[in-house]
Amino acid sequence: MSIDIQKIRKDFPILDQMVHGKPLAYFDNAATAHKPQQVIDAIDEVYTTYNSNIHRGVHHLSNVCTQAFEDARVKVQNFINAPHSHEVIFTRGTTEAINLIATSFGESFLKAGDEVIVSQLEHHSNIVPWQLLEKRKGIVLKVIPINDAGELVLDDLDDFLTERTKLVAVAHISNALGTINPIKTIIDRAHAKSIPVMIDGAQAVQHLKVDVQALDCDFYVFSGHKIYGPTGIGALYGKEEWLNKMEPYQGGGEMIQTVSFDGTTFNELPFKFEAGTPDYSGAVGMGAAIDYVNAIGLENIAAYEQELLEYGMEQLSQIPGIQFYGTAKEKASVISFIVGNIHPFDMGTMLDKLGLAVRTGHHCAQPLMQRYNIPGTVRASFAVYNTKEEIDRLVAGVKRVSLLFA
Ligand code: PMP
Repeated sequence: MSIDIQKIRKDFPILDQMVHGKPLAYFDNAATAHKPQQVIDAIDEVYTTYNSNIHRGVHHLSNVCTQAFEDARVKVQNFINAPHSHEVIFTRGTTEAINLIATSFGESFLKAGDEVIVSQLEHHSNIVPWQLLEKRKGIVLKVIPINDAGELVLDDLDDFLTERTKLVAVAHISNALGTINPIKTIIDRAHAKSIPVMIDGAQAVQHLKVDVQALDCDFYVFSGHKIYGPTGIGALYGKEEWLNKMEPYQGGGEMIQTVSFDGTTFNELPFKFEAGTPDYSGAVGMGAAIDYVNAIGLENIAAYEQELLEYGMEQLSQIPGIQFYGTAKEKASVISFIVGNIHPFDMGTMLDKLGLAVRTGHHCAQPLMQRYNIPGTVRASFAVYNTKEEIDRLVAGVKRVSLLFA
């Protein structure tokens, strides 16, 4: 099935606008993707027809809202093929999910001298929570290196995985480079030594089909807003044998069974990890986003985005002095580059004047930028609603800015 991009574009009201007198071309999808009307309508419906605090309610609206929230959980479960819906925890996003794991897994299983392995291309949200744990508990963070193309170098992985290694935490796809990491290989090799693996899927679930059972990962986390859903909501999948053994992350309403001043017992999964009123309208919105993506078909989205990636790389590579960062064989629709010695910030600012929205800077991956010895890059990241015509405008814009600086 081929997809009708013009029809898809009509679902995204925000795309139809002028910026600085030029039609908007939005290439900042790795930071956040726009929302189709279907998602906006689903959230609107919550507040206009059934808003009510969930769980424990006896009245009609509360029951409707609870059902919608739990339906959204099942949508997430099916989306990533999790065995049970109670293994899906709603969080504020990827960042909170990783902090939850670092804190709860850390409290329950890690002690001084234990090792956690990340990689050189991680987003700060998969580095700093572990560094906090280094400070709190004296754990040791080890880093899988990358090669110049931005691919993980796994030659020494087996030596990396020692009897002290308690967790491997790596990105499925790099937000700054687009590299698709060989996570199945990493999971299998870690499991061969009985080491659990957490995958940061913030940049993956919108680009490729994820099956947590086939991967056999122990944890998989992602954000709603990068998959055409709302901000402030995300999901953590964890195998129940881990989640059951982990300390709660936050204390409060809903995560308890009984509370007394003599002691408190905790609720069952998933509620044990969902203290307080959750973002139920966000969860419903994320469920609608999953429906939206499923209706188009992730394999169709992936094929189309690969076309855009190839076209974009081919066209941009004709620009004199352009240097790409992230040329892995397996790559998602993210293009990071610098032209000559034009500072990414200058390039981005001037492209913006042409209606071209790119991201510039370190992309919350400063250790990765240090690896390449650069302050940052210009990043164009494509979503299903981007077009080759927009890429032509981007290429023309980059050429124009390059000539100005020449
Ligand atoms: N990991 C990766 C790979 C990301 O790209 C991002 C967002 N840029 C995050 C984690 C953090 O996601 P969020 O800000 O939605 O929590």
